[in-house]
Amino acid sequence: MEYWVNIDYKEDIYRLHKADCRHVKKYASETKGVKELKTRGGWLKFKTKRMAQAFYQRNHHTLRWKPCQVCDP
Ligand SMILES: [Zn+2]
Repeated sequence: MEYWVNIDYKEDIYRLHKADCRHVKKYASETKGVKELKTRGGWLKFKTKRMAQAFYQRNHHTLRWKPCQVCDP
């Protein structure tokens, strides 16, 4: 099981999903990246939930931690 995180500075969220969740929508745009962070944020992939949590603590703890309620990672 891998995980995707939706980091969105504008919405103030750090949302963790299981990789197969239907709410994982990895569309890159001018301001939002996939596997990279742009001005608004982006989608990042992690091998474990623990790694996603560690990245949050280290770099994004000012955002709201909001795991997806659909896939319940
Ligand atoms: Zn989800």
